[in-house]
Amino acid sequence: MLRVLIADEVDKECPTRLRAAGFDVSERFEISAEELIKVVGDYEILVVRSRTKVTREVIASGKNLRLIGRVGVGLDTIDTKAAEQKGIKVINTPQMSTIAVAELVMTMMLDLVRGVHLANESMKKGLWEKKRFHGTELNGKTLGVVGLGRIGKAVAERAKSFGMKLLVYDVIVDEETLKRFGAERSATMENLLKRSDIVTIHVPLLPETRKMINAKTLAQFKTGAYLINASRGEVVDCKDLLDALKSKKLAGAALDVYENEPPKEPWEKELVAMPNVIATPHIGAQTVEAQIAGAVMIAENIINAFKPL
Ligand code: NAD
Repeated sequence: MLRVLIADEVDKECPTRLRAAGFDVSERFEISAEELIKVVGDYEILVVRSRTKVTREVIASGKNLRLIGRVGVGLDTIDTKAAEQKGIKVINTPQMSTIAVAELVMTMMLDLVRGVHLANESMKKGLWEKKRFHGTELNGKTLGVVGLGRIGKAVAERAKSFGMKLLVYDVIVDEETLKRFGAERSATMENLLKRSDIVTIHVPLLPETRKMINAKTLAQFKTGAYLINASRGEVVDCKDLLDALKSKKLAGAALDVYENEPPKEPWEKELVAMPNVIATPHIGAQTVEAQIAGAVMIAENIINAFKPL
């Protein structure tokens, strides 16, 4: 019987389906890094979300490991090189959170231009500051989408229905999708930054995307534009972003991801505390629907991977 260790909180659909398919499943959602290293050798399959870091040390201790399943998109929490060297397969569920992240980005976009979070805070203090909350509309504004993959496309589709003009920058040119959304392709990121009222980032974390939003690229934004980052924290240099907000180059920003999660440096805390910064604690995929979809996808992929031929 193949043994599965689920090391992070995953919806019950995952253990239920695996058990029904004959796997021996242990659920240890709170397991510490030290304990994981001690026990991982007893399992053929390890299932994680983003809390558990599957380091080279964990992989070296996983003497029987044959597969690592990541419920989620990014594989930056897994040492995939070490896994490959040991012939351990790594799988993920990249489709599970597309809609959830796109809807969070739309929430952020609407809040940025209307200040809903500030109006709500003001009402809870017993105030009635009607004149203070004078926003703008998304209709007719230009949304710059950097990275037109799964999430970028889902955001573009929704923004189009709000009457926004779409400007897209991606290293891969997908003419059919551009045509479907009536989107314009920007040949350079600089051109997109110069023309967009709101810029939303949806690239993966790669050496070439690390800190792609920095002092130099922030200077290329339209004055008074907004930035949204729900991709990976390291894609944006947040120290430079703080400066751009303080100098009023940018009117506001919305962040779901951070270089340090949770933010720990004084400048990160200062950024999160700014009234024109909407900050959420990496909740892009935190919907009931996305978590069930991820649990089902990972269980089915594990079952298929070990199906007798
Ligand atoms: P995807 O792979 O479907 O799309 C990424 C797109 O970025 C691709 O079209 C690719 O061609 C493009 N790209 C790559 N390098 C680029 C570059 N240098 N310049 C411009 N474009 C480039 O990925 P996805 O599923 O849409 O995910 C997008 C991001 O969202 C990832 O960073 C992912 O980790 C993150 N994510 C965050 C959450 C969250 O909870 N906030 C949840 C899921 C995914």
